[in-house]
Amino acid sequence: MLRGDPNEILERLQQLRAADAPTHGGHVLSYVYDSGLAELDDLASAAMRAVQSVNGLDPTTFTSVAVMEREVIGFARDMLGGDEDVVGTVTTGGTESCLLAVKTARDVWRAGGGVGQPRLVAPVTVHAAFRKAAHYFGLSLDLVAVDAFTGAVTASDLVDRLGPDVALVVVSAPAYPFAGLDPVAEVAAACEQAGVSCHVDACIGGWVLPFWSGASLAPWDFSVPGVSSISADIHKYGYAPKGASVLLQRGRDRQRLQYFATTGWPGYPVVNPTMLGSKSAGPLAASWAIIHALGRDGFAELAASCARSTQALIELIGTIDGLRVVGTPVGPLFAVATDESVPIERRVDPHHWADAARAAGWMLQQQPGLTQGDGSCLAPTTHLTVTPVTESVLEQLFEALVRAADAVRAVPPVAAEAVLAALPAELLQELSAPDAPALDAQTAFGILRQIGLVAEGGDGGLPQQMAPFLALIEALPHPLTERLLTELLARVVEPPG
Ligand SMILES: *Cc1c(COP(=O)(O)O)cnc(C)c1O
Repeated sequence: MLRGDPNEILERLQQLRAADAPTHGGHVLSYVYDSGLAELDDLASAAMRAVQSVNGLDPTTFTSVAVMEREVIGFARDMLGGDEDVVGTVTTGGTESCLLAVKTARDVWRAGGGVGQPRLVAPVTVHAAFRKAAHYFGLSLDLVAVDAFTGAVTASDLVDRLGPDVALVVVSAPAYPFAGLDPVAEVAAACEQAGVSCHVDACIGGWVLPFWSGASLAPWDFSVPGVSSISADIHKYGYAPKGASVLLQRGRDRQRLQYFATTGWPGYPVVNPTMLGSKSAGPLAASWAIIHALGRDGFAELAASCARSTQALIELIGTIDGLRVVGTPVGPLFAVATDESVPIERRVDPHHWADAARAAGWMLQQQPGLTQGDGSCLAPTTHLTVTPVTESVLEQLFEALVRAADAVRAVPPVAAEAVLAALPAELLQELSAPDAPALDAQTAFGILRQIGLVAEGGDGGLPQQMAPFLALIEALPHPLTERLLTELLARVVEPPG
């Protein structure tokens, strides 16, 4: 029956994979969460395979799904300080958990008599998934500025925004950009008093902070009164393959509003706690297997490794002239900015630094600067996510980070004007006008070419030097950059003409 040779097909896949950023080995410090345990990865893939043909849509037909989900939720609930009042759902990832937290809070607000457009209050550092959620579910976004130097939000700045139209306040444990642990207890207490939902986004911290020993953390989980829901990604520090997160809700009645149910069509009754219909049970099975294999002690050991490496890296950055770690990071991640307290000739631009590290085989994540609603500016940074595997390459990584800094020290940041010079001034003015018409696909593609982001006959890969690209993101108006990046990503998957 098969018309293609499976071996040849798989060989082709191996070739394609060889061009990917390496998912193992610790050279990629974002996107991938490597436990460094080959036997854990093998177990996860065997578990995925065992349920390959199962439809995760219906836990009454495929009862293994119900058992695994119940056990994963039970583990997560204990880990996150929940009692028997806390219930939950396994979702396909952090974004889905965040979307569902917002949808549920909106519906709780409506059920409580809220009318008109609900508002979502959060620090500007809240994950972009909440912008997506507000956009999808029709909430207005009220983003609170953080301290421009430390990236930390002040509790009262959030609490001051509470009002009858607020359906949800989101705080993070920690927030992704600078790894700050938001003031959960203060905010949750005020929310409880005002009768407003309070979500803790622990997508990145949820499976590692519970095991973070040493420094005593301010409480941020269900032990804090007023926390109504928590998201925690198993496919981050739960080391599961992509496609697994949990959303826990305090109170059955709240969680029932998360569900969508209809018997109003001629087909089978649809009753879903999540956004998808038919879905893979693979990431759930892998998560379940990993939890049974590691247990709390295993997670604690892996967290301890992350903590040692993170501490060592933060100390190292402190010794590199011209760089500084932003704020007080909590958990296995942090961001690095230019140390502006030293003279210009000793400063290191974080984006050039990341480009130099990348040229040596280490992938750090560049984050653009941002002007906040209050006019203050968050500096451009480079983000590092530390995982257990990092410890096995720590010495090499140290050396690469020091060398990269030495290589670019005193090189000024890419000037926005230089990047924009590739565009005719008239065009730029036209594009940046507030009433500029929407760009059609052909025009947007033409601009991408003009600024050198897509090469003739290019393979869709990004340029080697990312610093100019980041400078561009900062220099152009957000709607324009968003449109151009949409074009870039859409073209990446377009079949050739
Ligand atoms: C990763 C992350 C998310 C979104 O999760 P995805 O799994 O990428 O969809 C949300 N919040 C925080 C803090 C995150 O780190």
